[in-house]
Amino acid sequence: MSTPQPPALHPDSLVVAAGRPHGPGAPLNEPVVLAAPYRHDPAADVNAYVRHQSSATVEAFEAAVGALDGGDAVAFASGMAAVAAIAEGQPAGCVAVVPDAAYSGSVAIFDEQQRMGRMQVRPVDIADVGAVTAALDGADLLWLETVTNPLMAVADLPALIAAGHAAGATVVVDATFSTPLVVRPLELGADVVMHSATKYLSGHSDLIMGVLVAAPERAADLRLRRAMTGGFPGALESYLALRGLRTLALRMQRAQANALVLAGRLADHPRVTRVRFPGLPSDPGHAVASRIHEGFGAMISFELSGSAADAERVCEALRLISHATSLGGVESLVERRARHAIDAAHGTPPTLLRLSVGIEHVEDLWADLAQALDR
Ligand SMILES: *Cc1c(COP(=O)(O)O)cnc(C)c1O
Repeated sequence: MSTPQPPALHPDSLVVAAGRPHGPGAPLNEPVVLAAPYRHDPAADVNAYVRHQSSATVEAFEAAVGALDGGDAVAFASGMAAVAAIAEGQPAGCVAVVPDAAYSGSVAIFDEQQRMGRMQVRPVDIADVGAVTAALDGADLLWLETVTNPLMAVADLPALIAAGHAAGATVVVDATFSTPLVVRPLELGADVVMHSATKYLSGHSDLIMGVLVAAPERAADLRLRRAMTGGFPGALESYLALRGLRTLALRMQRAQANALVLAGRLADHPRVTRVRFPGLPSDPGHAVASRIHEGFGAMISFELSGSAADAERVCEALRLISHATSLGGVESLVERRARHAIDAAHGTPPTLLRLSVGIEHVEDLWADLAQALDR
């Protein structure tokens, strides 16, 4: 595959400029086209049905994400539809190396592929390059997360991508936690990058969407798969996702600055036994993140002394920070991840709270955390 060229504009400009209609008289924003079929065009050899031929609204979002990640973007109805397009698109008998603790939905889909006898899954600690390399013997697919959800292991992408390719595997990177502003896996040689656009890209917790980005030939295959299996996203969602994407750079700047402050203060709090955040020099992922990421993201996982019930009480005592699943929105969210059976089964400590740091004033966020921890 040819390595996509780095974008000519800074990513902070691309989030604003990419995916706009151009030409005299064009609207500044691609309109929301709400149509399933289009009128038959005798001059065009296309299936004029939106799932097959796509729509200008969806393509505007794809153009922007593609420009950011340096590839050809294919949008999906959810992050999981994007994960499924990869997992279900592998030939029967595929050997997949996956993180031993990854996003619960991805774990579930790979486990299901294995249960159905379609895939052999090898879970591995992706922070351990040697272990991944050993597991890659005879593998067809290497699935990575830039930073694992929720244990915050940081993937050494250049080393892991090289190991994956040396073994002949396709390397797919879920970059949901990082966004293209923090790391662009295609520039580091990955074959496909995946985002849950539900999270940072759209940024307002008001829609569900996903996206895969790859070189044009692979993207064309993924488009055919999307047309066949029906994971095509809605036009309203695509419009909102692109509108949200316009402020991604500003949102990330603030959220990351907030996270850096909060992680340091949490680490000093007597009730907190461990903070998992690559921005802390003591974090096992700090060196790798400092080398390959621009910024440390805005996700923090931290563990509390006491019981799971105590940790739940902290979540309930928060006022500004909402007790809810999901992440990547302007508003801060917290969740005890071991509530989910898959996370608990894959080593998430019972009192681990995953905090998605939003763009509120950092002192209001800290005051909220402090009052909940101190009661
Ligand atoms: C949320 C999430 C997904 C799944 O995306 P949906 O949009 O919820 O379907 C995949 N990977 C990661 C890391 C996520 O956080």
